[in-house]
Amino acid sequence: MKYLDEYRDHRIARALAAEIVRSTTRPWVLMEICGGQTHTIMRYGLDELLPREIEVVHGPGCPVCVTPLETVDKAIALALRPEVILVSYGDMLRVPGSHSDLFRAKAQGADVRIAYSPTEAVKIARANPDRKVVFLAIGFETTAPANAMAAWQAQREGLTNFSMLVSHVLVPPAIRALMVSSTNRVQGFIAPGHVCTVMGCNEYESLVRDFRVPIVVGGFEPVDILEAVLMLIKQLEAGEERLENQYVRSVSMQGNVPAQQIMAEVFEIADQKWRGIGPIPRSGLRLRAEYAAYDADRVFQLGEMTVDEPAECISAQVLQGLKKPTNCPAFGMRCTPENPLGAPMVSSEGACAAYYHYRRHAVAK
Ligand code: SF4
Repeated sequence: MKYLDEYRDHRIARALAAEIVRSTTRPWVLMEICGGQTHTIMRYGLDELLPREIEVVHGPGCPVCVTPLETVDKAIALALRPEVILVSYGDMLRVPGSHSDLFRAKAQGADVRIAYSPTEAVKIARANPDRKVVFLAIGFETTAPANAMAAWQAQREGLTNFSMLVSHVLVPPAIRALMVSSTNRVQGFIAPGHVCTVMGCNEYESLVRDFRVPIVVGGFEPVDILEAVLMLIKQLEAGEERLENQYVRSVSMQGNVPAQQIMAEVFEIADQKWRGIGPIPRSGLRLRAEYAAYDADRVFQLGEMTVDEPAECISAQVLQGLKKPTNCPAFGMRCTPENPLGAPMVSSEGACAAYYHYRRHAVAK
């Protein structure tokens, strides 16, 4: 299949790995932001093809993992109301809240339904005018346009029984927060190609300039990741820092302008709490006042909640690239995909799930 087979070709991958080895003269710490890229690295054992000098750490780009515990608790509380149909992406059902999860709420009789797109939730609202349908709208810039479109569509149709519990996060403020942290070790970033397909690359120029850190926008196949690593290493070894785009088959500088327009019509930038990490200024999206009637937080007057993460879970450090999943004492013992203590063990983009599924119980570097 064109645009897929050549990016999984082991000969190309090995040639890139050999060039990375030849180009590397000293230690470097690189971070891939996106959980999809983490899974590619673990699934194909790409880290084992790299020289020992290169350490790849995993970033906070797993939308399910960074959705605050409070949002999960709010979703469970809403789902347990008899008048509510709670609609969610499937990944969110097993994510532990402070005492339960949506899967258990469903087992207790809550009407929790899985959707593959937010427009399905709008359809459910249309078909159930006597119920209140709440869509759990989470994710990065990639899911924001479709979620915005759902609110726009509901408003256009005058639906009064549809709302969204919104927890949207943005990548560039997260990179900024990592770079200003006193514990940061990252010297180069692979930026998420799907986010940049929507948003373009312009936002990353200021990060390169402000922190003098190279950033390469990368794709999700093994050859994409290795090529992005090589592009970063060449810059680092030459003492340069630029924004480069490895994922040219999908990403342009300006991105998808109509998608950005619908996002800007429905959402505005707001401070956002990230699960495990804490609040990051201007790192999220919330519904604009014109869409307040579709904001489940306001409709149901959910108010503020503060809950503590399980003490044993070190996901905060995993999501900031400070620890690997296998450094967690609970990994594979008290925390498994069947009985997760933290979201990174549940999500299809979670780093702990990647290490668990690909049986990488020992980390060499
Ligand atoms: S293995 Fe489980 S407990 Fe440990 S960091 Fe990952 S999700 Fe948290």
